[in-house]
Amino acid sequence: MSEPDVPPGRTPLARIGLIGGMSWQSSAVYYRRLNQLVAEVRGGHASAPVTIHSVDFADIEALQRAGDWAGQGRILAGAALALERGGVAAVALATNTLHLVAGDITAAISVPFVDLIDVVAEAVTGMPTVGLLGTAYTMGSDLYSDRLAAVGTDVLVPDVAERELVHRVIYDELVHGIVLEESRAAYRDVLAHLADRGARTVILGCTEIGLLIGPDDVDVAVLDTTELHCRTLTDVMINGRVPTSRIAAGVAP
Ligand code: GLU
Repeated sequence: MSEPDVPPGRTPLARIGLIGGMSWQSSAVYYRRLNQLVAEVRGGHASAPVTIHSVDFADIEALQRAGDWAGQGRILAGAALALERGGVAAVALATNTLHLVAGDITAAISVPFVDLIDVVAEAVTGMPTVGLLGTAYTMGSDLYSDRLAAVGTDVLVPDVAERELVHRVIYDELVHGIVLEESRAAYRDVLAHLADRGARTVILGCTEIGLLIGPDDVDVAVLDTTELHCRTLTDVMINGRVPTSRIAAGVAP
């Protein structure tokens, strides 16, 4: 489905629905990148037809601490349905962690879901070993390992102490927009340790990590999931190409 009432001579773009607010810091990056990428491809005054359904992250964070993944799934299913009713052509979720309940979203809607973990699996195909940074929920679950195993890729995560550090920086700093040089240095060490253990590429598997580090900050190659997802979503808007999910959506820890 594309936008109604497009002026004569213009090729319509497909509207995407983004479930955001987890946190709004990274949703803001999504919004900016989607618009920049559409403008780069289409030129002129082009911008991204995107509808954002932003949730209250305090609810999500509390449910995460309580281990209530079903509750989070219900919130996101409701958000996805609201987007579908608003006329979007496809839905995407602007967080890695909540892909643990992606199955609740796909069960609620009939438009395609552009699954971030599938997008990453596609990008790492052919790589024997990658490192993974993300929240404790992401690093401590099989969210990535199962899907990447299906494309022949092993996933290395940091040790327990480093996982705690990575998680704490996300929840105490990055989701509040706080970017500290000391945290950047600590992340550099974590990435270097993953590289020492054989990771030639590290997935920045949390949508806020790109606020702290990018390719120029570290010696190992990094894959920023926010950037990857935005590129795929741009392709959906412009060419209507929705990647098909190869593997059923995740299982909550
Ligand atoms: N944005 C984060 C992620 O990509 C973490 C916050 C959350 O959604 O729990 O995993």
